[in-house]
Amino acid sequence: MTTPFGQSTVLGYPRIGANRELKKAVEAYWAGTIDTPELETTAAGLRAEVWQALRNARLDAIPSNTFSYYDHVLDTAVAVGAIPDRFERHGLSELDTYFAMARGVDAEPALELTKWFDTNYHYLVPEIADDLTFRAQPDKALREFAEATALGITTRPVLVGPATFLLLAKPSESSGRPFDRLGDLTDIYADILGRLADAGVEWVQLDEPAYVNDRSAEEIDALRAVYHRLAGLERRPQIFVATYFGELGDALPALLDSPIEALGVDLVAGEGNLARLAAAGPLRGKTIVAGLVDGHNIWRTDLRAAAATGATVTGLADHVAVSTSCSLLHVPVDLSVEKCLDPELYARLAFARQKVDEVVLLGKALRDGTAHLPEPLPPAPAAWRNASVRDRLAALSPADRQRGAYAERAAAQQARLALPDLPTTTIGSFPQTAELRKARAELRAGTLDQAGYAARMRAEVEHVIRLQEALGLDVLVHGEPERNDMVQYFGDQFDGFATTELGWVQSYGSRCVRPPIIYGDVARKAAMTVEWSAYAQSLTPRPVKGMLTGPVTILAWSFVRNDQPRADTADQVALALRDETVDLETAGIRVIQVDEPALRETLPLRKADQKAYLDWAVGAFRLATSGVADDTQIHTHLCYSEFGEVITAIDALDADVTSIEASRSKMEVLDDLAAIGYSRGVGPGVWDIHSPRVPSHDEVVGALRRAVAAVPAQRLWVNPDCGLKTRGYPEVEASLKRLVAAASVVRGS
Ligand code: GLN
Ligand code: ZN
Repeated sequence: MTTPFGQSTVLGYPRIGANRELKKAVEAYWAGTIDTPELETTAAGLRAEVWQALRNARLDAIPSNTFSYYDHVLDTAVAVGAIPDRFERHGLSELDTYFAMARGVDAEPALELTKWFDTNYHYLVPEIADDLTFRAQPDKALREFAEATALGITTRPVLVGPATFLLLAKPSESSGRPFDRLGDLTDIYADILGRLADAGVEWVQLDEPAYVNDRSAEEIDALRAVYHRLAGLERRPQIFVATYFGELGDALPALLDSPIEALGVDLVAGEGNLARLAAAGPLRGKTIVAGLVDGHNIWRTDLRAAAATGATVTGLADHVAVSTSCSLLHVPVDLSVEKCLDPELYARLAFARQKVDEVVLLGKALRDGTAHLPEPLPPAPAAWRNASVRDRLAALSPADRQRGAYAERAAAQQARLALPDLPTTTIGSFPQTAELRKARAELRAGTLDQAGYAARMRAEVEHVIRLQEALGLDVLVHGEPERNDMVQYFGDQFDGFATTELGWVQSYGSRCVRPPIIYGDVARKAAMTVEWSAYAQSLTPRPVKGMLTGPVTILAWSFVRNDQPRADTADQVALALRDETVDLETAGIRVIQVDEPALRETLPLRKADQKAYLDWAVGAFRLATSGVADDTQIHTHLCYSEFGEVITAIDALDADVTSIEASRSKMEVLDDLAAIGYSRGVGPGVWDIHSPRVPSHDEVVGALRRAVAAVPAQRLWVNPDCGLKTRGYPEVEASLKRLVAAASVVRGS
């Protein structure tokens, strides 16, 4: 007798805790203020809270092993023994080896960090060397399963599936394609499944989201073969293959074809999945887990519409369960703690905890009918519209997205800025010190007034300017001390945005962000950054960069309204930023950086959808940056990703200078830029700021020499990979000193 899947489930749940307890514990552990047992106790408490919350909500299929100290892809790497040698020779404990892979240790660089599909979550890229021997070590999954069982809760362990694991991996130096190791790795999964079954696991969830990307016939055949093999095992739990973030295309029939027991499909981001299911014909003996509740956005579900979709699926399969479209990792934990949101907005929102209730309601509706489902909400209030913004947008012409010719701009800028070859700069933020956070907390608590707060921030700006002058940097920044977060800072000042109090979402490791919610038309109420930049510029003759967050990134790191095309929302943001660039220029700022670190992140996962996105994304950036004169230098900054696919769009942004993450990927991006004839300024990051390691002099010089080989020195900028706000002053000073020294060595040679 096999246990049925259940009626309702979620594919994953936030693991950081309602008050970011995990972040605090992990960071305390890194700082040495708590020990391993204390960290483990906090973690176990958080896991128990999640399982109990899910059970109390009457969810009847509960996942486990969705907890992670840092990243679930890293957890899977450990579970299959994919630990590169360089982390194993330090004699560290299991836990410290794990953190070493995430953060680097001594001279060993960390694994590469990159975006998880089209979300703002980052995973650590597994490295697969040819001589790596996989080994099954599912201890974490087994431990969590046992922990939940001890609480009286039966769970379904979750692992990244073998095909996706290898498709996300990269070869280590001179090794072959990781995907070629799929046969070996499947053996390890077979072993793991056997051990799970021995421990009493009845269902396992294997995530294969990589198949919502374009995949070759070979990759799809391999997927089919993997699940034929795993489903053919004698001793195993029932297998649920979960997919999310889009359409499965030809992978859908391939998975249905294999004798797995359950398949999860995203019916929010993957509309076409429904037609594919229908085309597959009656699905005998299979459970379809219908992702009907959006796990990637915070709007309440139209439950009646979702139930209708669910009913269509019910007509196709023997058994249907309801789930979120993806893990709830991507939304905040609980709406009910938010006390300051406009009630009209509050009524339209659902966070993780509320989405669980939606899933449960839908599960019931599929069984008992839709009579008990609430009515859909009325359309948004008229006050959320802004007629003057709409008029301005309607009147735009292509000239509003076009600057003068680059050669003339470059000459005008150089005449004004007189920069040396290999100019040095940073990406914007300087360390967010405990004092800065304290000032913000006091301001919020009302124990520090606005004037006192501004005075402390100005003191910090002055400190940062003096430090940069002393270090000998060429283009300075004000350090962004007044910004808690590069998107939220603007969100707080725009019309049409709302900010939550506790709406934290994990971005990577212990880093969490609190994305604002764009619910209405966007407009700038007043200048937002001019005072800070102008003050910084008043302190020094060297150019100070004005610092803005670009429209694409503001959308990517917010929860965006879905009642109008994203392109329109992006243009509204762009117009507000354009006004800001003009005000900065008028205030004497000669260089303005408009950050677009998320340009690649929201790239649609399927090629066929990418052009339309890149067109509006580039258009919005250009709208934001074309209002200034030729001699104002526009920079942009991109990070965290593989840029290959968006390289022509980066060129099309038409920024005068592009700083770009490069140190973890060893400058490969420069070749990509050279290949498409990119001919403007570029600053490949020569210091990986995601790790606390100070790079050696030789490392920085080496990186710069590699860069000079690909880009002439007149166009090459010297800068770190990203902003410095997560770092401490000692490593920032030491590293920037290296950077300036390396620039002068390479200039002289
Ligand atoms: N200007 C921002 C900073 O320095 C850019 C951060 C980012 O790219 N994520 O913090
Ligand atoms: Zn960055």
